[in-house]
Amino acid sequence: MENNETNGAGNNPNQPGQPDHPNQNPNKKRRFNMMWIYAILFAVLIGLQFFGRDAATPQEEVDQGKLIEMLKKEEVGKIELINKEDAEIFLNQKGLAAHFPEVTPNPDGLTSTANYTYRIGSLERFEEMVENAQQEVAHPVYITNVRRNNWMSDILAWVLPFGLLIVFWIVMMRGMGRNMGGGAGSIFNIGKSRAQLYDKNTSVNVTFKDVAGLEEAKVEIMEVVDFLKNPEKYTKLGGKIPKGVLLVGPPGTGKTLLAKSVAGEANVPFFSLSGSDFVEMFVGVGASRVRDLFSNAKSKAPCIIFIDEIDAIGRARGKSAITGGNDERESTLNQLLTEMDGFGTNSGVIVLAATNRADILDKALLRAGRFDRQIYVELPDIVGRKEIFEVHMRGLKLGKDVDKDFLAKQTPGFSGADIANVCNEAALMAARKGKDEIDKQDFLDAVDRIIGGLEKKNKIITPEEKKVIAFHEAGHATTSWLLQYAHPLVKVTIVPRGNSLGAAWYLPEERQITTKEQMYHEMIATLGGRAAEQVVFGQISTGALSDLEKVTKQAFAMVTYYGLDEEIGNLSYYDSSGQQDYSLTKPYSEKTAETIDQRVSFIVEKAYKDAVAILTDHRDGLTQLATKLVEEEVIFGEDLEQIFGKRPWDNSEDEKLKNAALKAAENKSETPENENQPENA
Ligand code: ADP
Repeated sequence: MENNETNGAGNNPNQPGQPDHPNQNPNKKRRFNMMWIYAILFAVLIGLQFFGRDAATPQEEVDQGKLIEMLKKEEVGKIELINKEDAEIFLNQKGLAAHFPEVTPNPDGLTSTANYTYRIGSLERFEEMVENAQQEVAHPVYITNVRRNNWMSDILAWVLPFGLLIVFWIVMMRGMGRNMGGGAGSIFNIGKSRAQLYDKNTSVNVTFKDVAGLEEAKVEIMEVVDFLKNPEKYTKLGGKIPKGVLLVGPPGTGKTLLAKSVAGEANVPFFSLSGSDFVEMFVGVGASRVRDLFSNAKSKAPCIIFIDEIDAIGRARGKSAITGGNDERESTLNQLLTEMDGFGTNSGVIVLAATNRADILDKALLRAGRFDRQIYVELPDIVGRKEIFEVHMRGLKLGKDVDKDFLAKQTPGFSGADIANVCNEAALMAARKGKDEIDKQDFLDAVDRIIGGLEKKNKIITPEEKKVIAFHEAGHATTSWLLQYAHPLVKVTIVPRGNSLGAAWYLPEERQITTKEQMYHEMIATLGGRAAEQVVFGQISTGALSDLEKVTKQAFAMVTYYGLDEEIGNLSYYDSSGQQDYSLTKPYSEKTAETIDQRVSFIVEKAYKDAVAILTDHRDGLTQLATKLVEEEVIFGEDLEQIFGKRPWDNSEDEKLKNAALKAAENKSETPENENQPENA
């Protein structure tokens, strides 16, 4: 039983997309041909091996008995012992007449090739056998030793394994080179940078129009492009062009998209790569790649280098001294630092980087002169969300009832990537139901699905369990409805979803700061589920695991991070710089640790008691709600209003504020310059 808020943070189904690689596989065809050549070579080698062998032994084999008999009858003209392994038997005229009457012998009475072969086991026994067989013969034949080299198979026996090894090695190296994107794809290119270059010849079809909101970021970033194009404008007054711009923000907020659109808009060469592209299993490769990247870039200046996920190499140095650290990453970072500071300010290369972990970046990287500018890309607000919906609804067939304002209100905490996902998911759902257009319900279902996971209608739940789940969820709903600062409920369901058995959806206010009271009320609402089980059934269950985890973390944060506890006081043990390693040593004494434990436990217990008290007072309402939930499986805010009445403190100020913001945004987008923006097609 989970208590899900309409909070999409952490739901980032779209990993930051890599830039499109327009010229990704130029040597695909050549690779295909090379494979054929390898295959043919291999087949020829194998073929030669076999045919070589066969050519050496075409004659009929003879068995011991027949050989002895022929020897006794004096039919054998010559016995050649080849490499002490095989004996070749040449018949004389008498023998030929008896066994191969159609063959005419050479003048010496023999044929030029042997007539029979005989495989000998042991040399001595063969000699003995030949001697014994001819004891009573007047003109015995003697064995001649012949040494015959089968060059082909000898060479093959040596060369083939080596050849195979070499072929294998070449294939490996080519594969590796390809993985590293290193141009011609050989081991010699391992130190080359793997950056993708976008310039006049490669079209990037992302423009600023595809990036909704983020107005400030766009302005700032376009200024950077302007620096590159008209540097004199700035340098003539003595100003210096910035060297680096860092885009910082949670995942899925459009950092990569923004950078991609710069590539599309800027009309300067744009090198794009990811921080992990520097990393390789070989030592020294990272640094060499950084050098190569910058020397390439300098030859194309003015240009932009974009490094996505820069935290892969930019992590603070020397933090993990105990484990020996990661020297390779450090030397890569050092090289990057040197390169950024190394080139002259006017050399016309600007580094753009994106990360969602600015806190762990090395301080040296962030100092002025390297990444002088930091652009914060935040989770979109209600207006931003509406605009993102607009961008992603462009290609969709929408029903009349789809209301972007409403959807923007329903999706607080969603990132751009989440919203893109909602739009796509809604389209898929509508298609699955065989609809001609996507309507409002599809969007709402998509939102639910993204927050809560897929509905699992087939999960087997006993009626007893269902009742417990219903009361649990009704407990959340009731407490949150009755507490002033808890988030108002949108919907509760007891249909299992993802890995939770039931869920409650809330509409969090979009606040920038949270008061102690608000946090406390939220905790009570979170504990409302377990409290309801206690009040109604007199026993509690394991179903509250995620609720408990949540309140524990919240209480711990109240006490140790936000200074919201009177006994600990105005102290915060939070380390925003990420430089201190608190995993081994705590920044407080044992005694404080004890107090912290006590206070955390006190706060949670108090919240639980309050929840029990509220639910005991409103037991009738709770029961009504739970009963309804068992019957209908899904209930909405309106049902709660019927049972408990309107929330007295729900003044519509908030609502008015939001509507005003949306209205203002609407007016702005109706100005002529945006007129050609396609509306929902
Ligand atoms: P990150 O910030 O993690 O680099 P991305 O730029 O890769 O995020 O965003 C992932 C996807 O989310 C984009 O491809 C786009 O579809 C969508 N998206 C994110 N922000 C926006 C935005 N402001 N406008 C339009 N789409 C967005």
